[in-house]
Amino acid sequence: MVNFTNLGILGDVTHFRRYYEAPIICGREPNASEEERRLGVERSGELSAKVNQFILRRTNALLSNHLPPKIIEVVCCKLTPLQSELYNHFIHSKNVKRAISEELKQSKILAYITALKKLCNHPKLIYDTVRSGSPGTSGFEDCIRFFPPEMFSGRSGSWTGGDGAWVELSGKMHVLARLLAHLRQKTDDRIVLVSNYTQTLDLFAQLCRERRYPYLRLDGTTSISKRQKLVNRFNDPSKDEFVFLLSSKAGGCGLNLIGGNRLVLFDPDWNPANDKQAAARVWRDGQKKRVYIYRFLTTGTIEEKVYQRQMSKEGLQKVIQREQTDTTQGNLLSMEDLRDLFSFCENVRSEIHEKMNCIRCQSDDDRPEIEKRDTNQSAIRGCESDHDTSDIGGFAEIAGCSDKLKSSEKQVGTPLEEDLGSWGHHFFPTSVPDAIFQASAGDEVSFVFSNQVDGKLVPIDSMARPKIQLAEGNENHPKSNRNLNQKTMLLSQRRKPLESVVSNQVLKRSTISAFYKPLPRANVECEASSLSCSVQPQDSVKIKPSIGYQLPQKRLSPYTLDHDDFE
Ligand SMILES: [Zn+2]
Repeated sequence: MVNFTNLGILGDVTHFRRYYEAPIICGREPNASEEERRLGVERSGELSAKVNQFILRRTNALLSNHLPPKIIEVVCCKLTPLQSELYNHFIHSKNVKRAISEELKQSKILAYITALKKLCNHPKLIYDTVRSGSPGTSGFEDCIRFFPPEMFSGRSGSWTGGDGAWVELSGKMHVLARLLAHLRQKTDDRIVLVSNYTQTLDLFAQLCRERRYPYLRLDGTTSISKRQKLVNRFNDPSKDEFVFLLSSKAGGCGLNLIGGNRLVLFDPDWNPANDKQAAARVWRDGQKKRVYIYRFLTTGTIEEKVYQRQMSKEGLQKVIQREQTDTTQGNLLSMEDLRDLFSFCENVRSEIHEKMNCIRCQSDDDRPEIEKRDTNQSAIRGCESDHDTSDIGGFAEIAGCSDKLKSSEKQVGTPLEEDLGSWGHHFFPTSVPDAIFQASAGDEVSFVFSNQVDGKLVPIDSMARPKIQLAEGNENHPKSNRNLNQKTMLLSQRRKPLESVVSNQVLKRSTISAFYKPLPRANVECEASSLSCSVQPQDSVKIKPSIGYQLPQKRLSPYTLDHDDFE
């Protein structure tokens, strides 16, 4: 783009590749040398300086005055034994070995990659592929025998799902199912589920039907006129909606899904812009609640590798500001890349974290117990002063883990999305500042990165889901939660005290928020603080709200913004 308006300023393509692109990408690789890193930073600075003379890019940073805080959680989920078996079978098959060592057609390799990504989502997707005999099956010969026989009807071989047991055949799906159960039971939050594959959306739909969650679905086949109806319905608080299924390709631009404040990116896309577009459906103007974005990755698999590539690419994209093209997979996959993509890093908590050689986590673990306790004490004391920077948006406080966190479990400052090294690093879900996630994670989650992002809008918090009368036209979605397992119930009982504290704060804050109209002129801060005292919490909660909890103050912007889809 810059080159088009200012011909020649960046040199010709070869020069650009050699002088900017190569060293910048190189410097961002996790195994880059000090020298490569330095050169990368230097060239990227040079390029930014040139490019920024001509480009004015509006980013979400500008918007955040009107947005509540959000947290992004990169969640690594283990493969199930069935998935591991299939995964290993596939990457050690002759065909895949040949693909790595010989020049194979790009399309063939892409089919292999797709097969592995689908396997990560759910083995059912492979079952379909194997049975239909489509390309990508060549590494899965004989694989039907790995599947538990109760999953399909013996005679026809058609998939039955074993009376709901299918959910537990995928690590990510299992975590997702628990997440939905906890959300539905304990909050009035709505959630958007995004996948690259319509087959995965089919499984989400099946999950929703089996558990009787109301859901809406928008994919490539949805007509334009129907799209708006679905969106309106999801955003309408008077309707009992819960899940919005979205195909990442169909739902890129324009969709406003602020009725939901949680969003799961179930599989990573090669193109980081696609994932960002999807995530921006909920964190946008009009959103009133805290936002939770979950990026699910399967531990040690191709998904972690795709995500890592996303980050080094995204850094580059930021600098050169060019349109993403479809050549992503074409010219960038070397033999080395292929070998890496088709390897399976078993027995790690997170391959990305492993490759970082993270000093933060090491220094947390290496210190002797006694010293740890000392620093923890001082950390708690120190917390009161630097509270605002260490728990942006108050997520940890609400989740009840703010004074238990080790330093590696807190993010460093306000890191960029691609700077995972400075995010919070969690070996245990209990330290993730998200109570619903803590209760949902289970044994499948092996590692979590967290990043809290500030927003200036005082958020309305999640409340217990109100009992809505069965609305007309809603008879397809009976609202019984009888499928919730006992574990869920037990967890909810144990967490009662925490919830009482939260709901007390929630009530106070939601009364405050109720007085926020879009872009009011008066100074709402004063009004709100006097009004909040006059409202009695309904639940007569006896526990004092924790001291030192400060709401982020809403700053009213003096100017109106014209912001549509520029994220
Ligand atoms: Zn770490």
